[in-house]
Order: sequence, then C-alpha cells, then structure tokens
Amino acid sequence: MLVMARGKPYLSKSRIISAWQCPKKLHLEKHHPELGVVSARTESLFATGHQVGAISQQLYGTADSVEIPFNRKMSLMVQQTRALLDSGADFPIFEATFQYDGVLVRVDVLIPETGGWRAIEVKASTSVKDYHVLDCAIQDWVMRHVGLPVTSISLAHINNQFVYRGGENYNGLLAEVDVTDEVRTVEPTVDVLISRARDAVTGPMPEIRVGTQCTKPYECQFIKYCWPTDAEYPIAGLGGSKAKLGNYVALGYQDIRDVDVESISADTQLRIHRVTCSGEPEILDGARKTLEALPYPRYYLDFETIGPAVPLWEGTRPYAPVPVQWSCHIDDGAGDGSYVNMRHEEFLDLSGDPPMRALTERMIECLGNTGPVLMYTNYEETVINGLIDLFPDLEEPLAKIIDRLFDLHPIVKVNYYHPKMLGSWSIKAVLPTIAPQLDYANLEGIKEGTAASGGFIEAIGPETSPERKVGTVAALLPIRHRGDGRDRAVFLS
Ligand code: SF4
Repeated sequence: MLVMARGKPYLSKSRIISAWQCPKKLHLEKHHPELGVVSARTESLFATGHQVGAISQQLYGTADSVEIPFNRKMSLMVQQTRALLDSGADFPIFEATFQYDGVLVRVDVLIPETGGWRAIEVKASTSVKDYHVLDCAIQDWVMRHVGLPVTSISLAHINNQFVYRGGENYNGLLAEVDVTDEVRTVEPTVDVLISRARDAVTGPMPEIRVGTQCTKPYECQFIKYCWPTDAEYPIAGLGGSKAKLGNYVALGYQDIRDVDVESISADTQLRIHRVTCSGEPEILDGARKTLEALPYPRYYLDFETIGPAVPLWEGTRPYAPVPVQWSCHIDDGAGDGSYVNMRHEEFLDLSGDPPMRALTERMIECLGNTGPVLMYTNYEETVINGLIDLFPDLEEPLAKIIDRLFDLHPIVKVNYYHPKMLGSWSIKAVLPTIAPQLDYANLEGIKEGTAASGGFIEAIGPETSPERKVGTVAALLPIRHRGDGRDRAVFLS
C-alpha cells in the first residue's frame, strides 16, 4: 500500500530502480499491477534471491546478530532499527530499515566497525553490475541522510568458482567487492531518480515506447500489456534489435507481415519475414541428406539439469549445470523412424542423494560403443564435460561419447523454418511444428527448464508427499516410448 510522507508518496528502493528502468513500469506497478504477468524465470530469480539472502545471514551472522523482521507497517521496522542502534548495538543487523524523505530502504547486512557501520548488499548474480552500484547508492543516500555513519559499502555476489565441500559449509560462496567509491560517485544522481520515480507514481501514465529496457536489466512483467501479442505472428517474433522492434510498434505494426521488407537488412530477419509472409514452412534438402548419411543405431539424448545458486551436493559449483535426469530414444533403423516407436530409456532419481554417479554409469551403459548421439545445441557436451570434472575415472568412456555427439541445431537452423516458430530455433519452438504430440506446451505440470528445475528440487525435499513425487516423475519424464513402461530405467525412492 502506498502511503504519503509529508505530502510525498513513499518509495522503496525497488520502486526507484523500476522507474530508472522504465517510468511506465513503475506507473503500472502502482496503478495497474493486475496487468503484470510474472514469468516462471522471474519467480525463480526471486526464490534464488531469498536462498542467497538466507545463506548470507548464516555467513555474516554471529551469536548475537539480529534480523529486523518484515512488517507491512514500514514505520514499525524503522522504529525497531532505530531502537537497536540507539541501544548501542555492536553486532550484525540484517534488514535494518531506514526512511528519509519518503524513501525507504532495507539493508541486507550492517556490520559494526570502528567509526560506524559497514553496509553489505547481497546479490545472487556472479559479478557486480552497474545497476547494483545504483542500488547501493540509494541505500547510502538514505543512511547518510538519517545520520548513520557508513564507513563503507560492499556488494557480496556469488563466487562461481566456489566448490561445495559438504557439511553445510558455504564459506567462500559469496565474494565481497568494496564499491564505496563508485557509490559515492553516482550518489548525486539519486535525487534525480527519486524525482523521476515520484512523477511516475503521481502523474499520468508516461508515454514510453517499448524497446531494450523491456528486458534489461530485468524482464518487465508488463511485456504482454505493452507489446502487441494478439496478432497471428506478433512483431517481436521478427527478432533483432529491441530498439528497432520498438520503432515498428510505435508505427502501429502488430504482425511480422505488417513490416515493409525494405526496412529489413539482416539475413535472418529477411528469412523470417519471407517465410512468415508466404505462410508455408521452408524445408531445404540439406537436413534430409545429412541425416540420411548417419549410421544406426542413433541415440537421441536429452538431459534435464539443475543449477542452483547455493549448491546442493558435494563437488558442485554455484549455477553449474548438474544433470539429474536423462532421456534417450534409440533408433536401431528397423522401425519407421518416428520418435514414439523408438526404444526408450531414461533415468531419474528423486531420493535426494547425489544422482550424478549412477546417472553417468547408466548413461554410459545405455549409449553403448557405436552410433551417433544426437542432441540439440551443444548443451549436452557441456554437461558431459562437467561429469568428467566430477568423475575423472570415467573420463575415457565419457570422452568417447563426446566424440560421437552430433548437434542437430545448426542443421535445423540452416534448413528449416516454420512461421509458427516466431523467430526461434529452440527445441520448444521447433518441436510443435514437426511433432505436435511432443509439444512442450502440452505437457502437464512442468513446462520449462526453470520450472522443471524448481519441480525437481521440490520433489527431492524430505517433506514432499509421495503423490507429489509421482506427479513430478510424470512431468519430468513426459515423452515415453510405450505406455507399458517395460523399457524404462527409472530409479525412484
Ligand atoms: S514492457 Fe517495456 S515499455 Fe512497457 S512498462 Fe515494461 S519496460 Fe516499460
């Protein structure tokens, strides 16, 4: 709820950052939040932020450290913080809350030191970004105006070189960077940002064209509202620069077919435009010739991975993709070549124990010694290289699998485009146009990587019910060879 401070609307730090990204975004957040659609990816980022925040309290906490609990009544959090400081607190304070001139900030970590307080802002990213410095500058602006002696400001981000050694020991997961000088350099711009945010909140809807700011630095939740999406082939599917697409939208174009071909110069955009206007898929002969030349048996391999910011299992690093499931369709050349009639094997372990060793051994066994291993993009190669790092004793068989990998993505990209792919050659865009029965969007429950990853982590939790585990299996292993399960290799606990 927005309240007024001496005639001015209260602004949180995140609202000021919203207005910095796009004043229209903040206006909509305040007046029409119902128009926003928060994506699974954004929700997953929020969840990661909470996880990393909890770990930071473990890392910076002491026996007497205190957290100011969240309360919808902001003034209560401000009073609690003030009372702690006035009582001579000399221990770390988490989520200390300050307000000055209607601007409210919650500081992740405050550590007492000689002459004042060291402030630390915790982020789940793996490096310091420009907008993080702005974020810290807003906090510093408020803290200094309320008279808190701030000795330095640091940003603690995920150290992606950290290797988890188990035992809940996450020392080293966060890397701290002192950004005091950068913060003090940009701090004079904070007044301007605050006034921009106030105008966005109190004034009419700002007239802002869609463009690069819609996804940078954060994916805006109002994309569906601002970008035309009702057309048969929405203009965003043309791809290319967001600024150029924004100009088309400003001209009133909704559909890729509305665009004048003379205004397009890039080859990929010309191809998308040409095929979309024709209404017919473009299928070149190169794919068929390349695939016909491949020997049998052919293995179609697909991994599902998780990459949590806070590693779950010993030997893994933050955000590094850890395979938790694989699925393999095997075409021995005797059938009709359709996916549903191939032999199928798969692996999934929901015990919560590290699944990587058993997963790797079963995969080596499944893939045998000969035949191309087909995958889409080089992701599988990255994952297998990660397995070599984890299990050096399995390097030889894994390296042999890498030698047999055959990437279908470049073949498809050169030889195939369907208007319904809307500018994307991802497997999720291509599959429904060639095999609607395998459309990811038609799968029940888990529909995309971030949700699948979240679903897996939920399913291995000790508190998850057996019914939910079964539901997750159904969602993670959606493409079956036959309904009888005879050829499945699923490991459940
Ligand atoms: S979609 Fe783009 S133009 Fe619309 S509010 Fe978001 S950032 Fe602004």
